[in-house]
Amino acid sequence: MFNRPTPTPTPQPGAPLPIIEARSVTVAYGETKALQQVSFSIARGDSVAIIGPNGAGKSTLVKVILGMIAPDEGEVIVAGQSKLPLGYVPQHEVVNLEFPVTVRDVVMMGRLRQIGWLKLPRKRDWNAADEALDRVGLAALGSRQIGELSGGQRRRAFIARALAQEADILLLDEPMSGVDVNGQADIMNVLDDLNTQGMTIVMTTHDLDLAFHRFPHVMALKGRMVAFGTPAEVNQPGVLAQVYERTLTTWADGAQVTMLIDEHGCPDCG
Ligand code: ADP
Repeated sequence: MFNRPTPTPTPQPGAPLPIIEARSVTVAYGETKALQQVSFSIARGDSVAIIGPNGAGKSTLVKVILGMIAPDEGEVIVAGQSKLPLGYVPQHEVVNLEFPVTVRDVVMMGRLRQIGWLKLPRKRDWNAADEALDRVGLAALGSRQIGELSGGQRRRAFIARALAQEADILLLDEPMSGVDVNGQADIMNVLDDLNTQGMTIVMTTHDLDLAFHRFPHVMALKGRMVAFGTPAEVNQPGVLAQVYERTLTTWADGAQVTMLIDEHGCPDCG
């Protein structure tokens, strides 16, 4: 069967240049279609939350952007990819927390490209690592073992590792999972600061309140692109019903809350 590709929107004159552009991206794992004809354009300096239920294709999309997975159809273009590494903060950390490695060493791993294989870090690499730690508020904890940090601090150490790469796009896969409320607030403050300094941020999250209240743009995925726009455009009962197959209830008591209710009246279950 022939699927007509979703047309890629033509940039308007004067619109910011896209830094990430996906054109009709389709990815299948065997019989499972993870992404179908997904097209979008993210502007340089934007901050985007990607929402969707488990299995919606969020991690797959992040991997395609990173070049870890080649799409079966379509393409993702990252502006200046050769010069500007993508900073990736993975969902499951790849460092063995029992391994005796300091926070500063973990951040230095982000400098491998600049240091070169089998070479020792130079002063400028240590300076870059220390500056990255400072930017995420961990300057005082550089000599700690990575396993001694809290979940939220560890995520910030991995953000610092991405910064040490001199990335100007930060891709984060569920960085809030397993992190307490204070840790989440610290991570969000770091991301806001980085975004203000020009970093493009793309983050997957299950947290609708976070997406709709802290991000200027939200992408709603369900194997395909359901909606991509401002929180007001995406936080719509029709959109969320398509994405989560649940009824949406919102109420206002000073702060607006978004809650998904299934047919049994069970909020956020499943
Ligand atoms: P999300 O991050 O939104 O939970 P994923 O991108 O992880 O979604 O998964 C999208 C779909 O692809 C799911 O149906 C998932 O089971 C499937 N999938 C993801 N990774 C693999 C894999 N390595 N092998 C087979 N199926 C996979």
